[in-house]
Amino acid sequence: MSRAIETSIFTEMTELARRTGAINLGQGVPELDSPPALLSDVSAAVLAGHNQYPPAFGVPELREAVAAHQRRHYGLGPEPDGEVLVTTGATEALASAFLALTGPGDEILTLDPCYDAYPAGARLSGASLVAVPLVSEGEGFALDADALRAAVTPRTRLLVLNTPHNPTGKVFTAAELAAIAELCRERDLTVVTDEVYEHLTYEDGLAHTPIAALPGMWERTLTISSAGKTFNATGWKVGWVSGPARLVAAVTAVKQFLTYASGTPYQAAIAGALNAVEPWAASLRATLRANRDLLAEGLAGAGLRPYRAESGYFIQADVRPWGYADGHAFCRDLPARAGVVAIPTSAFRHAGPDPVPWLVRFTFCRRAESLREAAKRLAAGAAAAAPSDR
Ligand code: PMP
Ligand code: GLN
Repeated sequence: MSRAIETSIFTEMTELARRTGAINLGQGVPELDSPPALLSDVSAAVLAGHNQYPPAFGVPELREAVAAHQRRHYGLGPEPDGEVLVTTGATEALASAFLALTGPGDEILTLDPCYDAYPAGARLSGASLVAVPLVSEGEGFALDADALRAAVTPRTRLLVLNTPHNPTGKVFTAAELAAIAELCRERDLTVVTDEVYEHLTYEDGLAHTPIAALPGMWERTLTISSAGKTFNATGWKVGWVSGPARLVAAVTAVKQFLTYASGTPYQAAIAGALNAVEPWAASLRATLRANRDLLAEGLAGAGLRPYRAESGYFIQADVRPWGYADGHAFCRDLPARAGVVAIPTSAFRHAGPDPVPWLVRFTFCRRAESLREAAKRLAAGAAAAAPSDR
């Protein structure tokens, strides 16, 4: 089997949770509600018969809503016609961008750890992924701008950025974004930026900034987002990419032959939700911030050492206090020991030996009752014996 089509860690861990009846804090699949108006708009669209192919670029209302959103929030001005493309989730936007812009012999530069679609997308296109480690600093991660610079070669075609970041929960700082932007301008790199967690930031002073908004970056950047995380609708798989017409056209050419188009009744309904996103996002942030705190307390109460989670769905914990040096062994034992499933952070690593192999990723995008129950189980598991790598 080609490495590009191995079973993903999410499929594997979700199946483990199903088999063992454990609480699934592995895959980032929300247990939270979607905006009620969005649900009724989708139902109405289905019943009104909006069930055939949409235009390949996406329904005009959604392209207009994405353009207006980028303008309102970030001062960016994509044209709805030609500079915005609706995709089947962020995943298709990423794969189409990799396939459109890279091929065998090219290098795709990113930061490690990273979301699994980047190495898989690189393998599909035949390019090599060069992943530069983020530096683990205290209870967080930082960019090593010199290491990133040193990793650029004449074959580097793309720099793939993800902020807010999965799996670390890091929001890249203004100084880090400026350093990345400077490097891209200097070395004439195209940027693909994955911003699916753009509305899910939890710390004052750490709001999301798209790298496309930095000087000289719009013309070289494809910005990707999705309705999945913003509206707790990960199963709908409606995403979008915006950027200069020449880059969006290249992505569109590939996307046509992956799915052509999808999600007609969802697209117009999501346009309405995106036009009114701010109050919704504020309440979702409050829920997720409280969930993050609940999970962090639960992890600490069970004797694990939670890291900082500034954004997104995930928190890392150092599992050494339970006697494990390796997150994989911990995750293998966890369903039997505590009735919980989590994912070893090293599953997201693609460069050399993992300097922090004891980190494990837990999601907090579940209902508070599930997180409380998981905390109880973890506390009981802390007392249980028999870790496999002691
Ligand atoms: N990028 C990141 C960083 C993610 O965590 C995810 C997970 N959903 C995706 C992309 C995929 O988004 P979508 O479900 O819209 O394809
Ligand atoms: N983005 C989700 C995560 O990181 C999962 C997406 C998937 O299952 N492909 O957990």
